[in-house]
Amino acid sequence: MRVAVTGTPGTGKTTAVDAVETDLDVVHLNEVIKSEGFDTGRDDQRGSRVADMDALGEWLGDRDCLVESHLAHHFPADRVVVLRCHPDDLETRLTERGESVEKARENAEAEALDVVLSEAVANHGRESVYEIDTTHRTPEEVAREIETVVADEREPSAGTVDFIGWL
Ligand code: ADP
Repeated sequence: MRVAVTGTPGTGKTTAVDAVETDLDVVHLNEVIKSEGFDTGRDDQRGSRVADMDALGEWLGDRDCLVESHLAHHFPADRVVVLRCHPDDLETRLTERGESVEKARENAEAEALDVVLSEAVANHGRESVYEIDTTHRTPEEVAREIETVVADEREPSAGTVDFIGWL
């Protein structure tokens, strides 16, 4: 069984997944990219590294895990959790984490436009997607919600969160 946890950077994937209690192996793809050297270079315009998706896909293979990354929905999974966060709160979280104002704004806009949710639904179908709004919720509360997805105690949901009015 593989559960992917994805979402715009800053939605709290890393923090929430670290608080999840599960028998599944927990995989933070950012750590794998670093430790295995799975990047193909730097995108200087965006100030980020570019992941080698083929190498990551091969590394993941068909292992059972709880895999967390803003790229996680690009790989096969049984269920896909999409964490959401109000764009204002997302910008605050990202700038407090040390990201530039431009990068925080770019991610807030992507969040308002449902970019990751749309990709997750396109790749996996609505019946496999579970949208969780993390706005004003603690990482522990979000972790408990993720646990209900892992345990198959929750109905799929996509399109329940709407931040388009923020734009
Ligand atoms: P991601 O892995 O999605 O990029 P992080 O887990 O790194 O996000 O969290 C981004 C920032 O927001 C961190 O500084 C973290 O402490 C903070 N954060 C994470 N989850 C929450 C939450 N539920 N409420 C408020 N702040 C949070």
